[in-house]
Amino acid sequence: MTNLPGADLHWPEGGMAGTAMHELSLLENVREILENHALSQNFTKITQVTLEIGKLSSVEPDALRFGFDVVMKGSLAEHAELIISDLAGLGICQQCGLQVELETLYDPCPHCGSPLVKIIQGAEMKIKDLIVI
Ligand SMILES: [Zn+2]
Repeated sequence: MTNLPGADLHWPEGGMAGTAMHELSLLENVREILENHALSQNFTKITQVTLEIGKLSSVEPDALRFGFDVVMKGSLAEHAELIISDLAGLGICQQCGLQVELETLYDPCPHCGSPLVKIIQGAEMKIKDLIVI
């Protein structure tokens, strides 16, 4: 068993948020990254995939679970177990400079009420861990 370092996935902000298509295209990216990892690191099967999903990423864990088996079918991650872990949303208020926790992309700063909060974490999805054979 080997653990590999994760990779960041980014996509255009607000693009196809909230649709099942969104999750499917993300999963296709994941599959591509896994296949590239397999070529460069020489493994042939993945038994477990941990995805870290930012609270602000508008990725639906249920849609991801649903799509995972479909998208991974026929790949080296077919039948792999999917583990989903949450990543909190964090921002820096551009007015008072404090680091704040965010529930949505458009939360104002809870300290000073400013809407100018720069997102620093939680808008992304990452492949956090892989267990491979
Ligand atoms: Zn503030």
